Amino acid sequence: MKYGIVGASGRMGQELLKVFAQHECVYTADVDGVRESGAPQVVLDFSTPKALPVTIGACERFKAACVVGTTALGESDLAALRDLAARVPVVQSFNFSQGVTILKMMLRSFAPLLAGWDAEIVEAHHNKKKDAPSGTAILLGQATGRECPTHSLRLGGVPGDHTVVFANDGEVLELSHRAISRSVFALGALRAAEFALRADKGFYTFEEVVECRKRPE
Ligand code: NAD
Repeated sequence: MKYGIVGASGRMGQELLKVFAQHECVYTADVDGVRESGAPQVVLDFSTPKALPVTIGACERFKAACVVGTTALGESDLAALRDLAARVPVVQSFNFSQGVTILKMMLRSFAPLLAGWDAEIVEAHHNKKKDAPSGTAILLGQATGRECPTHSLRLGGVPGDHTVVFANDGEVLELSHRAISRSVFALGALRAAEFALRADKGFYTFEEVVECRKRPE
């Protein structure tokens, strides 16, 4: 696969280069400019919302699929990605780990049974992370179907911990996920890129990638 990375010099950009080692990087963009040596079939964006026009522009120009992991995207950013999805496949997720995706599915199924319980989320990330709460905490909160107060810790090199805590007067139920390494997100992005290469134009979540839903064979 010929691919491109927006945010190529960042922590995730560097992790993607390692995990995509068998593929050919032909396009990179970061604050120091754009480097091109060919036409990417898929462009991955792990950068900042400000860079989204660069990503969308590259996907339009190369008719490339798009995999977006950048967090703190606003409604207008998501609308721009949905517009792009009218022409190319777009996979967007605030979390590309399989475990968090399954945790979301569990919450969607079981949170209604805990309707009378308190629910809060605790998340921890490395001290360079710019946004809080994390995109993943927002997704997990949405999966509970209610407002969940969220507590964000920013310390050390933690790749990403999330715990959803439910409690009533007599019991505490905790559902936790821990990313042991950043490579887990890059491996998920690789899976999303492989999915996007085979997919028809449209907007896909990572959940659809994990479930292989809507995959045209
Ligand atoms: P980082 O700060 O290490 O890297 C971001 C990179 O983007 C930097 O190299 C920076 O120079 C570059 N950048 C900034 N402005 C730019 C612009 N205008 N054009 C091009 N490049 C620009 O951050 P990171 O830890 O690599 O994370 C990047 C993003 O990915 C964050 O939003 C983070 O929350 C998100 N993330 C998502 C997942 C997921 O699974 N979806 C996992 C980890 C991180």
